[in-house]
Amino acid sequence: MGQASSPKKELGLELTNMKRNPYLVDYSQFQKKRRERDFAKAAARKKRARMLFYRRLAVVTAAFVVLIAAVILAVWALSRAGGTEASLGNAIDESGEPKALWEEEIQDIQGISAEAFGRHPAWTEDFLTVNEYSRPGDALTEVNSIFVHYTANRGTSAAQNRSYFEQLKDTHERSASAHFIIGYEGEIIQCIPLDEIAYAVQTRNEDSISIECCYLSEDGSFTQETYDALIELLAWLTETYDLTRDDILRHYDCGGKKCPVYYVEHEDAWELLKRDVK
Ligand SMILES: [Zn+2]
Repeated sequence: MGQASSPKKELGLELTNMKRNPYLVDYSQFQKKRRERDFAKAAARKKRARMLFYRRLAVVTAAFVVLIAAVILAVWALSRAGGTEASLGNAIDESGEPKALWEEEIQDIQGISAEAFGRHPAWTEDFLTVNEYSRPGDALTEVNSIFVHYTANRGTSAAQNRSYFEQLKDTHERSASAHFIIGYEGEIIQCIPLDEIAYAVQTRNEDSISIECCYLSEDGSFTQETYDALIELLAWLTETYDLTRDDILRHYDCGGKKCPVYYVEHEDAWELLKRDVK
């Protein structure tokens, strides 16, 4: 009997022992450690991968920055080379660009390039006061014709005719003016800048330049001095505005007024005058 219950007891003891088996505990601890180690390894791997990603990102960014810098440098070098080429005649002058800008600023005189303007025949610049009767101050944006007039006031000088235009601002007598007045001694007075309109021809003030001519002769023909100065001025104007001799008109050709009277009554003289403009 005692023998019969003994194996059961022993088995129970065995089970208890087994539960307390130190190897079993060690084994589970070993697994836990291995899991921890695996986890640490995985974390380390992730960290390495992350570090690698950041390192690559840094390399790509650096390469990109270097590339941009290289492009900027290349553009700067090219623009410098261009600037040097432009100022070959003046190798010592390092400030090529500011000089070019300054030249551009003075390039426009009365709407004309400084170079072309510099070739104009000698004249006295004596602009009228801006006023609604003789110098409206409106822009003259295109020049398609040059009109020739006579003052219709025999024996008066260029200065006197200029004064007449100037006084219109007070007398309000009428609206009248011209860009130039040529005296019977050949002197030229400029009354209105070439980039402003004059009041000289009813319908063509907006796209033309007008020249008044003084005269001494009863028939209205010009003195040789007036004639020569007029030819010189017409030659410069047609060249400057890229016009032909056919763009030189009498006031008569626009509105029928007998102005300039001699060259209306003597068609051949007018044709000769136009031919004299080289
Ligand atoms: Zn006229």
